[in-house]
Amino acid sequence: KRTRLIAGNWKMNNDVPAAKELAEALVEQVPASDAVEVVICPPTIDLACTSHKIAGSAIKLGAQNVYWEAKGAYTGETSCDMLKSVDATYCIIGHSERRDYFHETDEDINKKAKALMAAGITPISCCGESLEVREAGKHVEFVVDQIKKDTEGLEITDPSKYVVAYEPIWAIGTGKTATAADAQEVCGAIRATLVEVFGQETADGIRILYGGSAKPENIAGFLAEEDVDGALVGGASLVAESFAAMVEKA
Ligand code: 13P
Repeated sequence: KRTRLIAGNWKMNNDVPAAKELAEALVEQVPASDAVEVVICPPTIDLACTSHKIAGSAIKLGAQNVYWEAKGAYTGETSCDMLKSVDATYCIIGHSERRDYFHETDEDINKKAKALMAAGITPISCCGESLEVREAGKHVEFVVDQIKKDTEGLEITDPSKYVVAYEPIWAIGTGKTATAADAQEVCGAIRATLVEVFGQETADGIRILYGGSAKPENIAGFLAEEDVDGALVGGASLVAESFAAMVEKA
């Protein structure tokens, strides 16, 4: 059985003092449980101080992005080894905001996944369709295509160390959530695609998260769906009480 995973994506919020404060509050409030894994993904500049604050707690650290090269002349980028040096064990890749604003391609995301997995960091690989694609009724085929491209040539030995997050773009930060049935439709198709790519056993072990206006009031509905194994939380992860409540409900 897959262990549930609740991950907070802080996006570009919280300077160092604010990150320390939120991390302290989360350590106090997030319940520790073997049944649910908890990850927070602060901005790069906050990774070191957050790591220090959550050390010894049940909360794990994730980054929001990585570059696949090991080192050198790549101004502004962060390597896998740099993430490891602050004890980050997860990294979000391919978030729709990075695809849209920073022109990341499926090929980039695939390279990032390979570099992270070689370094022993678990990717949280995001996918999801725009409103336009959804309204055209092409959301399933769009996401299936992303999954195929993003996983091309990946070798997964431990399925608990590769995570997919389905985030319909129209539900991100809009307060407009997908219904649990919408989430299951696509997450089920993602699982079926993972079966094609990696085989049943591996696909059965990969966690698939839902993201997009997930909050304490709606999380239980998503988690009740067969192929939804957790949530990637934006706005609600910035408030310790809300994030702790979501972990509690998971
Ligand atoms: P919101 O929870 O703020 O809608 O953000 C979702 C998201 O993009 C998480 O990565």
